[in-house]
Amino acid sequence: MRRPRKIRPTLIVLCVLLAAWLACSIRPPAMKQVMNIRDGEPMPGGLCVVYGDAYQIRLGGLEKLHPFDIRKYERIYLRLVRDGLIEPSEVFVPTPISTVNLLRVHSLEYLEDLKKPHLIARYMEAGAVSILPASVSDAAFLEPFRAATGGTLLAARLAIEHGMAVNLGGGYHHAEPDRGGGFCIYADMPIAIRVLQSEGLIRRVMVVDLDVHQGNGTALCVAAGDDVYTLDFHQGDIYPTPKEANDRDVPLPAGTTDDEFLARLRAELPNAFDAARPDIVFYQSGVDGLSNDPLADFAMTIDGMVRRDAIVFAEAKRRGVPIVMVLGGGYSADAWLAQFRSIRNLLEVFAGWNRE
Ligand SMILES: [Zn+2]
Repeated sequence: MRRPRKIRPTLIVLCVLLAAWLACSIRPPAMKQVMNIRDGEPMPGGLCVVYGDAYQIRLGGLEKLHPFDIRKYERIYLRLVRDGLIEPSEVFVPTPISTVNLLRVHSLEYLEDLKKPHLIARYMEAGAVSILPASVSDAAFLEPFRAATGGTLLAARLAIEHGMAVNLGGGYHHAEPDRGGGFCIYADMPIAIRVLQSEGLIRRVMVVDLDVHQGNGTALCVAAGDDVYTLDFHQGDIYPTPKEANDRDVPLPAGTTDDEFLARLRAELPNAFDAARPDIVFYQSGVDGLSNDPLADFAMTIDGMVRRDAIVFAEAKRRGVPIVMVLGGGYSADAWLAQFRSIRNLLEVFAGWNRE
């Protein structure tokens, strides 16, 4: 009698790797159109959209195990295209951020630390990453973050030129000069600020951070000097602890509703603009204040998020200040939908986009 042949473990590993590679290679046509770095076109009214296929973290499907909807940005982009709100050719596809520019905010020691997968695993809160070879974790995790950080820099340049820009990524406000945390690796907003200041394109900056978590990393990165004013709304009793000091902190309790949040925003925002006197606004528009978000306890709705973003854009536009929006957090199943609807609203209200 013939003994059944043993399947070799290496064959199984090869099959898994092949399946992962195939899963990573299959892309809808609209994604293929944002694979190469290139200029796009401002939308009517001047709103520019920045995005690239390289933002996407791909680990052969394993990325779906993370609590963060890792495909949030892709979903938003594909829906904007599907609904005819934007043509892929209008999207600006950015160059990844350079090491020289990363070093404007981060220490060399930190960039060296990022060669250790167990540290990336800690910052990403994804333990399985620690078993990956360093080259794989760099390609799978760090490259997408470098692409999206380059996107925030490009979006800020476009905002200065055209008035308004949205990066369909970024907002990594927990990244500090010497360490990451809370799904954040590179401090995209502070990096973009320091690059543009070094080029003399801007001097004074305001960061408006309405993600439900405090932007502790941003606060630390821009603490030196008085040229960056930070306004930060957040839930007071959740991550991160301890909090860092912003120019204006607005801690709110669990259960905060749309009306409560928006009333406070309307009261705070003009004062912040007056104090900051900014040449540009960086707006971190995380939607983890939605009522069903697993990482926070606000009671806000999609409609509230749409109105919130419109209030910030309206104030910047009224004052003639360029504004760049980055997407930040949002971990519920409908987080992508909230941000898609908000961007659709911005296109309709501020960019004069017309369905007809
Ligand atoms: Zn958050």
